[in-house]
Amino acid sequence: VKELNKITSKNLESILNNNKHWADSGAVATYIPELAKVNPNKIAFSVVKPNGDVVNVGNIDQKFTMQSISKIVALFIAVKQYGENDFFKRLGYYGTDKPFNHFANLDNGGKPLNPMMNAGAILTTAMISNEGEDGYLRIRDMVRYITKNNSIDYNHAVYQSERETGHRNRGMFHILKNSELITGEENKLDNYFKQCSIEVTAEDLAKIGYFFANDCVRFDGDATYKNADLAQLVESQMLIAGMYDASGVYARNVGLPSKSGVGGGIAVAVPNKMGIGVYSAPLDAAGNSVAGYHMILELVKQYDLSIF
Ligand code: GLN
Repeated sequence: VKELNKITSKNLESILNNNKHWADSGAVATYIPELAKVNPNKIAFSVVKPNGDVVNVGNIDQKFTMQSISKIVALFIAVKQYGENDFFKRLGYYGTDKPFNHFANLDNGGKPLNPMMNAGAILTTAMISNEGEDGYLRIRDMVRYITKNNSIDYNHAVYQSERETGHRNRGMFHILKNSELITGEENKLDNYFKQCSIEVTAEDLAKIGYFFANDCVRFDGDATYKNADLAQLVESQMLIAGMYDASGVYARNVGLPSKSGVGGGIAVAVPNKMGIGVYSAPLDAAGNSVAGYHMILELVKQYDLSIF
């Protein structure tokens, strides 16, 4: 921990410079048309050290959409509301060999594999939604709390783009309604599209990583939501499914609970220590930031951060 508190922007800068070229081997997501417009050359690297101090390098002001990283915040809210047993009556704890948008298990009344893939995440958000955009607002407010950043909001153009083109997600929503795992109206699916469109910086992601790494205590020490058991649950889901079908090889190489989004962000929890946030839009085949992954890997090797 002492060693980690000494991390400087110089350390992170050299890691960023060593790895930014990896972005050339990835491709920005285009299945959400609005995401195809992002600049593939922006890159940012942030850590929140064990003492709560933030170190940022690269395009630190660059905002991007959280996408699937929002799923860990939704999971936190849902389990707090329902309790773990009741929540997991409707979906599984399984890892996966399937991409994030797969319909695995959904047919004939089947339950989603886990809350990290789209099907389980759409269900999770539906479970915490009642009227209008209240479910989205709960997620937004939690992200605002964790990051201590009250300017956090969703990107309306990305939201519209997802809403208009998210036919697979809409299909999942309706299958889950058919199975009676979801009740209610399409506003609940809109809340999912909105949470995915929440804009953050790499620093915000590092603070989210820190929160789950440290028993849901915020980077400034605020312990309003302190809950070691819930943090452990969220981290376990991040480890087994947070990087989708790449989670196994990622756990072998990086060995840390992490959650990616197709916007190009990754939030990492270094249990009981710190948070890492990275951003670089070009993705690998599983939908994970390529340069982001390589920056994390180099930091992990340098400081021997794998939990294994
Ligand atoms: N909004 C995206 C979708 O539903 C989130 C997927 C992701 O980030 N992996 O397809």
